[in-house]
Amino acid sequence: MTVQEKAGEKFVYDFAEGNKELRDLLGGKGANLAEMTNLGLPVPPGFTITTEACRAYLATGREPDGLTGQIEAHLEALEREMGRRLGDPQDPLLVSVRSGARFSMPGMMETVLNVGLNDRSVQGLARQASSADPDSSGSADRFAWDSYRRLIQMFGKTVCEVPGEQFEHALDEAKRAKGSTDDLDLDADDLRGVVEAYKKIFAGHTGREFPQDPREQLDLAIRAVFASWNAERAILYRRQERIPADLGTAVNVVAMVFGNLGPDSGTGVAFTRDPGSGAQGIYGDYLANAQGEDVVAGIRNTVPLQELERLDPKSYHELLDIMARLEGHYRDLCDIEFTIERGKLWMLQTRVGKRTAAAAFVIAGQLVDEGLIDLDEALHRVNGAQLAQLMFPRFQLDHDFAPVARGIGASPGAASGAVVFTSARAVELAAEGRSVILVRRETNPDDLNGMIAAQGILTSRGGKTSHAAVVARGMGKTCVSGADGIEVDVPAKRFTVGGHTVAEGDVVSIDGTTGKVYLGEVPVMPSEVVQYFEGSLDPAHVDNALVRAVRRIMTHADGRRRLAVRTNADTGADAARARRFGAEGIGLCRTEHMFLGDRRELVERLILAATDTDRTAALAALLPLQRQDFVEIFREMAGLPVTVRLIDPPLHEFLPPLEQLAVNVAVAQERGEDVAKEEALLAAVRRMHEENPMLGLRGVRLGLVIPGLFAMQVRAIAEAAVAVTRDGGAACPEIMVPLVGAVQELETVRAEAEKIIAEVVGDSGVEVLIGTMIEVPRAALTAGQIAEAAQFFSFGTNDLTQMGWGFSRDDVEGAFFWRYLELGIFGISPFESIDRDGVGRLIRIAAEEGRAARPGLKLGVCGEHGGDPDSVHFFHEVGLDYVSCSPFRVPVARLEAGRAAIETAGSDSR
Ligand code: PEP
Ligand code: MG
Repeated sequence: MTVQEKAGEKFVYDFAEGNKELRDLLGGKGANLAEMTNLGLPVPPGFTITTEACRAYLATGREPDGLTGQIEAHLEALEREMGRRLGDPQDPLLVSVRSGARFSMPGMMETVLNVGLNDRSVQGLARQASSADPDSSGSADRFAWDSYRRLIQMFGKTVCEVPGEQFEHALDEAKRAKGSTDDLDLDADDLRGVVEAYKKIFAGHTGREFPQDPREQLDLAIRAVFASWNAERAILYRRQERIPADLGTAVNVVAMVFGNLGPDSGTGVAFTRDPGSGAQGIYGDYLANAQGEDVVAGIRNTVPLQELERLDPKSYHELLDIMARLEGHYRDLCDIEFTIERGKLWMLQTRVGKRTAAAAFVIAGQLVDEGLIDLDEALHRVNGAQLAQLMFPRFQLDHDFAPVARGIGASPGAASGAVVFTSARAVELAAEGRSVILVRRETNPDDLNGMIAAQGILTSRGGKTSHAAVVARGMGKTCVSGADGIEVDVPAKRFTVGGHTVAEGDVVSIDGTTGKVYLGEVPVMPSEVVQYFEGSLDPAHVDNALVRAVRRIMTHADGRRRLAVRTNADTGADAARARRFGAEGIGLCRTEHMFLGDRRELVERLILAATDTDRTAALAALLPLQRQDFVEIFREMAGLPVTVRLIDPPLHEFLPPLEQLAVNVAVAQERGEDVAKEEALLAAVRRMHEENPMLGLRGVRLGLVIPGLFAMQVRAIAEAAVAVTRDGGAACPEIMVPLVGAVQELETVRAEAEKIIAEVVGDSGVEVLIGTMIEVPRAALTAGQIAEAAQFFSFGTNDLTQMGWGFSRDDVEGAFFWRYLELGIFGISPFESIDRDGVGRLIRIAAEEGRAARPGLKLGVCGEHGGDPDSVHFFHEVGLDYVSCSPFRVPVARLEAGRAAIETAGSDSR
């Protein structure tokens, strides 16, 4: 049944009818306004139009049946409650029309304030304002005309796509005529003139007069908010934040309250704890005599919230009480928007606040200490992406680096890069592989592309709640905002600061924790969290709030997870590092990496061997080198399982490039030099040249084609294990055969390997398992047969994705994935996060059929996906035994494996 067919569906909810659990239907803002209303907090009355109504509108281009009538009924109820009618010329009710999706998308969608104003009701609004305060009739007129010009501006931009700059120019023009740069210097007459100018702009652009019918204004504004779900920047933001594209936004219609009615009015934003560090306290910004958009846009500089205690102690203390209540109720950091209208406090929004990665861990730990949540909940509230961020390096500032400017540490981290002044330039330079810092006076939603491309963002205006700050924090990007010592000149492509001029392309460094800005590149140092994992943390910091919280939550994750976490490592040093990060074995040791460097020559000899004797000699020379490699790794892993994969890549990778070799040989022949050896090499390279090497002679195919190659490796592994064991150590080798597609391939390799193992191991007590990678789709689909010959499976999701999709893993991401992402064919590269439906299905089939044939078959994954947070959850669900990833991602995988376990436990018990 389509949405329109569901006659009688409820599309509009009064605030008193909703609650915070209804976020899917009412969006985050609507659900939380309802929750606050029901808690008895001072919320202006209003109603919410559901996301379902939005989806139906977007699908059909018209309001679903019943919506218009329901809006009418709720508007009438609102009018009754307020004792005013929408746009009444004498005593108008005004409303705001605000977007609010299931997931917060700051600044990405639209809002229209002051709906209900027209040429007549503007007079009524002035009378309302002056009757509430008879001494203020001049300022009441000013206020009313200012509100009207804001409506035309927002409505024009949002509903009718009038370019915003045209309104801004007209306002600047009025200020210039007045000889001022401050909006507040414009009086009622000036603003009346601005309204006239705005109306002309509106008519010029749309071909019609600005609508005077308040109900028409409301309907058009609601439609525009619906449509803003599909605005380009909203689509981009969703893709970046992995928010599903089909949720739609709710629309909140709320009675207007005014923060711009004079010095006893104002508006602000507050956090119940510091969203940067998690520290307890009062954090926020306040702007007297202003509307909310002024704060977020960073148009005027705010004062710290604590100032409100002096300006309006009653509202300040009421606000603190409400914040404490909200935090206790939501059991989390809340962020809040409020307005004070002539000394009366109104709550306009609350939500569980965005926070930095460090604050997420610290706050989760604090809330456990405060008894508000348990450790499972704490684990649920942090994630691997945040942990990864905490493992980023920071600036090393022990020597003489003096900052040239200081702003607000708006989103932590350290970033250096070439300065750019426009989003487009940021995108261009980033595409060339350069690291860039986007420098703006302030950002707006149109800068999103540049913010995504940049390493860091630096603005000269705006606070912790400015657009730049909020969006950067959400993305985990370094941001310094409000560095007001910087004069940004975008057209001249430069900024000046303290006598220095910094041009496009010059390098600067910004510290998003301290807010400091440095000229040139500043060296970086590792994070405390990494030092903690590595055991190298200065004892003075071992017990700081962040390290304590990470330790506690990681310990809990380890206790809860079912998946083991191994690492991909090919050297003793990598293995040692991974163990410090908590790896419980090696899931993939890529032996081809051991054939590079000065061993290349031996491999060349092996490949070019003309006779059995030549080949045997080359293998004999490689054997002791390989054995020593494995001894080092087994020692480091001290009895933990080590999966050694037999050599995989195409042989030509060990030989010189064909074209270069051909040219060298031709030149040498021309000179009459003796080139017999080079000619033989060239002939071999030609013989081995493949059009599709990734689908060619590699993996098990090599082992079957070059006699003795796998046998040498198997012998080296077994001998190393025996040597380590005889030395009093322990070794648990697992030999893994790559690129198997048919059980016969595995059986052939296995038969030879077993003979060698039996001969080498003797009575040493060493046990060697033999298993296979599952990375060719045919292997996944015949897993039942393959399991008969394999003691374990490890999913090679890189190749499985490559061959499952038919995407060359070396080429496609750079070549055309941008288009696939743009079209939403996938939201993230399937090489980065597992494609659950396709490649994931192959894994499910192989796991089920493998285990059916061999109960208890050990299953793991060693492709890149083993360290990707979302994919780890999938591997938990499918019942794998372990994931294996690069050393640096081991902590992330441990944390996510713990989260996956509590989430499944939670859904089982529901
Ligand atoms: C894989 O294909 O997922 C894998 C781990 O092997 P490699 O990346 O070495 O091909
Ligand atoms: Mg592979």
